[in-house]
Amino acid sequence: MQIQKSKRLEHLRYDIRGPVYEKALELESQGYKIVNLNIGNPAPFGFDAPDEIIHDIILNIRNAQGYVDSRGLFAARKAVMHYTQTQGIKGVEINDVYIGNGVSELIVMAMQALLNEGDEILVPSPDYPLWTTSVALSGGKPVHYICDEQSDWNPDLEDLESKITPRTKGIVMINPNNPTGAVYEKEVIQKIAEIAERHQLILFSDEIYDKILYDGAKHYPVATMVHDTLCVTFGGLSKNYRAAGFRGGWLILSGAKHRAKSYIEGLTFLASMRLCANVPTQYAIQTALGGYQSIQDLVLPMGRLHKQMNLVYDRLTAIPGVSCVKPKGSLYVFPKIDLRKFDFQNDGDFVFQLLSEQKVLVVAGTGFNYIHNDHFRIVFLPSTDELTIAMNRIELMLDEHRIH
Ligand code: PLP
Repeated sequence: MQIQKSKRLEHLRYDIRGPVYEKALELESQGYKIVNLNIGNPAPFGFDAPDEIIHDIILNIRNAQGYVDSRGLFAARKAVMHYTQTQGIKGVEINDVYIGNGVSELIVMAMQALLNEGDEILVPSPDYPLWTTSVALSGGKPVHYICDEQSDWNPDLEDLESKITPRTKGIVMINPNNPTGAVYEKEVIQKIAEIAERHQLILFSDEIYDKILYDGAKHYPVATMVHDTLCVTFGGLSKNYRAAGFRGGWLILSGAKHRAKSYIEGLTFLASMRLCANVPTQYAIQTALGGYQSIQDLVLPMGRLHKQMNLVYDRLTAIPGVSCVKPKGSLYVFPKIDLRKFDFQNDGDFVFQLLSEQKVLVVAGTGFNYIHNDHFRIVFLPSTDELTIAMNRIELMLDEHRIH
């Protein structure tokens, strides 16, 4: 008899490492070289973490052999607390900070600690799919609100508010956004904070890309605008500090903590069940947050990330039948293909054929729980040379599949 996975996992998806990714691995094992535009992992593309972070981890490795406090090392949490002060977030104390093995672990913990069967969480569509999956895995019901391509992918507030029910417990926002590259306008963030307060919903704000901003875009932490409801903010080392493999992230509680005693107990319980987050990485957090912010050099107009973003945007928007909103932050573009002009059935079909025919790996928009099936996501971390090859292949592929 076959051993079955649990029923809880049956309808869950995580397409960033899903079946198309498996197919790419198979092609690689057959000797094909795949251009990987699928994962926001800076290191393999020559984006090194700052030297001082590496130095700190090496220097402290002997001190990092034992378990530490389940919430995290004092110095690391204190550094995150100070960071909230520089951002203008009020009232964060040392025990309001939890260090995790990446934001991923903390997202799962934040949902597991909160949700009962059938509780609803409002999640953006498109989203970083771990959010939807974590809600469902925790017995909750992810309810998607639309982010509007016509308004630079800002959340559609009417749609968001219309989806609130008596079972709604919280609102997730991802800003700067993966997969759309949006950086939300201040007024939009303010209105989301107002909606959350009016309906007494918890705000979960994933701000892991808060320093990856282009062309003067400004990031506003929603926690600076929330007073009368609980706000849970997420950040980490993986993107701003290009250290995804070190698995370091943090969760910050602010706002109406006094009304969340039991939830906070739940979070602390889950943190202690896994004893603590990996310790060597925690030694780097203080230096990362307090040191020279070298990501700035990469996002400035002559910086590598900025150049690569422009290249991808310019090349995509020059292809008839493809459109896309220019990213203001993060590492991604989320272009639309006009399916009436090509012979693809949907985004999944396009992505599969792009891999089979041109050996370029991207992720379909529906993998990000987007309601329409005509988008895909490109990661612009590879060098301009590699991106040029990828863009040439995408252009060729679309030409070959154009309906005349
Ligand atoms: N949140 C968002 C929006 C992401 O894009 C990612 C990774 O791509 C994560 C969280 C997970 O980050 P971590 O490496 O800290 O687990």
